[in-house]
Amino acid sequence: MTYLKPLPDTSELNRPFWEGLRQHEFRVPRCADCGDWNWIPYPACRSCQSEHQVWTAVSGNAVVWSWSVVHRGPGAFNDEVPYTVVLAKLAEEPRSLIVTGNLVGIDPAEVTMGMPLTVVYEEVPEEDITLYRFAPVR
Ligand SMILES: [Zn+2]
Repeated sequence: MTYLKPLPDTSELNRPFWEGLRQHEFRVPRCADCGDWNWIPYPACRSCQSEHQVWTAVSGNAVVWSWSVVHRGPGAFNDEVPYTVVLAKLAEEPRSLIVTGNLVGIDPAEVTMGMPLTVVYEEVPEEDITLYRFAPVR
């Protein structure tokens, strides 16, 4: 079955992230100097401006920080309405790592603030790409 949604733009800069997903790891740049995590990825650490960051796997644990329910999606996304786009706050600290993603495995009407989530992985059929989703912890 042909995948009709957009595929990610991969580059030298973000390749470690997509390689991580393929290995079922959600990687975030972590500063090699001060240890802080930086999401969204940026060339320098937001805490100490160091450019020495290492793509490091996080736990995958998160909570619902905010969400929106989509009732009319663009293109092929419309086949899945209603669906939930979540802002998930990863467990890693001290800076809040707020990651946007699709929330799967739960009726949109049952989503609540602070609900525990975990990262799950989805292989794209016939493409060499793995995507991430969030799912509730049951
Ligand atoms: Zn730093």
